[in-house]
Amino acid sequence: MGDRPRHRQQTRRGEGLSPLTERLVEEAIPVLTGEPLAAHTGLRVGGPADLLVRPRTAAETARTLLSAAEEGATVLVMGRGTNLLVGDGGFRGLVLLVGEGFEEDGVRLHGTSCTTAAGVRLHELIERAADSGLSGLEELYGIPGSVGGALAMNAGAYGVEIWSRVEWVELALPSGELRRCRGSDIAHGYRRADLPAGSAVVRAEFCLADGDPREIKGRARERLADRKAKHPLEFPNCGSVFKNFCAVPGADLDYERLVSALGEGYSRRALEMNGSLTLPAWRLVDACGLTGEKLGGAQISTKHSNFMVNLGGARAADFAGLIELARRRVFETFGVRLETEVRLTGEFL
Ligand SMILES: Cc1cc2nc3c(=O)[nH]c(=O)nc-3n(C[C@H](O)[C@H](O)[C@H](O)COP(=O)(O)OP(=O)(O)OC[C@H]3O[C@@H](n4cnc5c(N)ncnc54)[C@H](O)[C@@H]3O)c2cc1C
Repeated sequence: MGDRPRHRQQTRRGEGLSPLTERLVEEAIPVLTGEPLAAHTGLRVGGPADLLVRPRTAAETARTLLSAAEEGATVLVMGRGTNLLVGDGGFRGLVLLVGEGFEEDGVRLHGTSCTTAAGVRLHELIERAADSGLSGLEELYGIPGSVGGALAMNAGAYGVEIWSRVEWVELALPSGELRRCRGSDIAHGYRRADLPAGSAVVRAEFCLADGDPREIKGRARERLADRKAKHPLEFPNCGSVFKNFCAVPGADLDYERLVSALGEGYSRRALEMNGSLTLPAWRLVDACGLTGEKLGGAQISTKHSNFMVNLGGARAADFAGLIELARRRVFETFGVRLETEVRLTGEFL
């Protein structure tokens, strides 16, 4: 992820170039063919993309989306790939890599507002805000990835979700337009934001609050230290693999087993009294005896059972196999159907 891809700009029309490639070349948009996506994902797995564009401006992002739409190409918008599992067969279509930043667009502060390009790293945004005594996002410090990816995923931690601070987002659309939407106009929930289909976030403005820079930085440092203590950051990983499960009354779960594995707080009675119960995915996976389970070069982390790590030489298929195993065992044991938080995309061989 750290290395910027070298753009082999194709300047001539020639045999073998797809109509979309020709069109991008005509528009002077640098395009790579066959770029291995493992170089752009946190897990360090993923086969080649047919085409990869790293747009230099918001306008170029919109033009690329328009060209792809008109040529009927499937598009994957990528940030910094920290929450993606891309298949070993790669991606058939165009990868739009927004997460490595535009040429000239960073973080701008004005009053208590903060405007940023989608490719800025979330930690950079938080540091810049903290330096200026702006508070509101520091609980998210240490979440890797880009601002655009954080918005697409509604990244959250320690009770704060990024959308709680969004004033507006600017979207590049497959129609070729750039459109600004108020934060309140985009529905969002646990690890999801309902962005218009096929759109890419290119900019956002956050509404923050005045605070003391030292206190803000202190809180950010505490969160980072907590993450370092809990997460297996020494290995390539993709953060939480599964979403925590929200059980609602009437859910057909094995409450006896839940209570015996997780404790009294997870009984049917507790669920009915609370109206809902959050079952932490890591506890469910761990209770199935899967902590430390390996497949090829992939492992369910021994440090945090909702993380999977690349011990070296893992393939996407290894991670997909472990995900399948964990989902099956958790369902057989507790009746809980875990959903992945990590987004699976591309061709799995
Ligand atoms: C060690 C570790 C800890 C983590 N901790 C947390 C945590 O505490 N809380 C949390 O919520 N997440 C956490 N994550 C997950 C991840 O970091 C976030 O989801 C991150 O915000 C994703 O950003 P990204 O740029 O890497 O997006 P990517 O992984 O590149 O993409 C993720 C999704 O967002 C879409 N997307 C990316 N950029 C854009 C864009 N500009 N416009 C439209 N769609 C876009 C992609 O299509 C994809 O569906 C963690 C991950 C790791 C590795």
